[in-house]
Amino acid sequence: MAQLCGSRSQGALRVIAVVACVLFGPPAAGAPYYNYPGAIHIHTVYSDGSGTFQEVAETAKATQLAYIITTDHNTLEPIRDGHQRYWGRVLVLVGTEISTDAGHYLALDLPGSFEWGTRDAQQVIDRVNAAGGFGVLAHPVSERWPWTDWSVTSIAGLEIINLASLMDADLRAVTQMNLPGRSLRRLAGLAQRYLTNPDAVMASFANNTVDRERTQWDALLREGRQYIGTAGVDAHARIPVAGTVYRVPTYREAFETVQTYAVALEPLRGDAESDRREIYRAYRNGRLYMVYPRVAPAPEFRFVAEEAGRVATMGQPITLAERVRLTVEAPDHSHPIIRLLRNGTEVASAEEARLEWDATQPGVYRVEVYAGVGAGRLFDIRRGLRLPRVEELLRSRRQELQPWIMSNPIYVRGTGTSAQGEDPVFPAIGTVRRASRIDPHYAALEAAGICCCMLP
Ligand SMILES: [Zn+2]
Ligand SMILES: [Zn+2]
Repeated sequence: MAQLCGSRSQGALRVIAVVACVLFGPPAAGAPYYNYPGAIHIHTVYSDGSGTFQEVAETAKATQLAYIITTDHNTLEPIRDGHQRYWGRVLVLVGTEISTDAGHYLALDLPGSFEWGTRDAQQVIDRVNAAGGFGVLAHPVSERWPWTDWSVTSIAGLEIINLASLMDADLRAVTQMNLPGRSLRRLAGLAQRYLTNPDAVMASFANNTVDRERTQWDALLREGRQYIGTAGVDAHARIPVAGTVYRVPTYREAFETVQTYAVALEPLRGDAESDRREIYRAYRNGRLYMVYPRVAPAPEFRFVAEEAGRVATMGQPITLAERVRLTVEAPDHSHPIIRLLRNGTEVASAEEARLEWDATQPGVYRVEVYAGVGAGRLFDIRRGLRLPRVEELLRSRRQELQPWIMSNPIYVRGTGTSAQGEDPVFPAIGTVRRASRIDPHYAALEAAGICCCMLP
């Protein structure tokens, strides 16, 4: 059923159209979806990254990305300098990572002239929205740079994956400075492994968990509003250690480790202005999924809900009349294991590339796909024991399952709520619990001259 498509008349873009465009029926269901791989949350020489726009764009092209979104700290100067445009066949969009009193805020789709003029988190958010932009919380529950004020309203969403935070999980082991000798040995060991086999080290970061991010996301979603989830590379290619700057991990290594696919309703056409709107429209509405592409690229991933000719995909609501058929299609390699969650709890799973399930209850449905490579024996055992859930395996044998794809949710609404209609603008939100605080161990990390997100 899935087939590649893409107009033949669009030159280089068609190559990028990579990009699966997945057709599905019935035709009345509307448009195909065009899935574009990209990277968001990138730092350049405009703040504390080591790469120029030229370097970053060329790297994105070499990594087969369709778009990237740079987010230098507290500046939109790259727009004023004309850098928001197509660089070859890569669409380069420019946002900014604003430092607020509550944490870092990725502000997107703004004009180059925008000035926020405050560190107050809510005021920053409100001014970004008033200027026609939108934003997501950066690394919101990271131990090192958490978001601390969960009473804010009107955010579009949050980063569910942040590569710098995943790396921090390893670096953090090095930061227990109460045993400096052991810490240095660990750091040397990590560096040694990286020098010997950077791909293996980068791949291993994907196995560091993002449980807290997903828990926070599910908690927000349970309040009945919509939140988008993004996967930030937080790429700097710059780690200063004791006065020397190392360009690690490289931009390429970062782009090959974490990607955010935008699901467009129209194919990109090679015009920067209209394509910028198309990508941001996907972002604003959560037509997104997050991928660890070292397992495999996932341009053909699909998650749709259908009932009586009505269709929704990620980020979209659909009204439940009797039963909504949820269909997940994962790439058919690496032994995909699909996990379907309702309001954060697993309701179905499949150890194959396709899962169909009828939802008879309203709820927020999202999908996680794992690669079961190397876990075949376990799964045979699991089948024999008839364990009900991938959850069980996740708890006990996390190492055997590599995280691969995380969808944004489909919102299955009960009748009586207004659920139809394409692409609601991101909604205002309520409050959430749980302020976090900065882990004191990172003070030691920074004292040793190792830091990533350097600006306050
Ligand atoms: Zn950053
Ligand atoms: Zn940051």
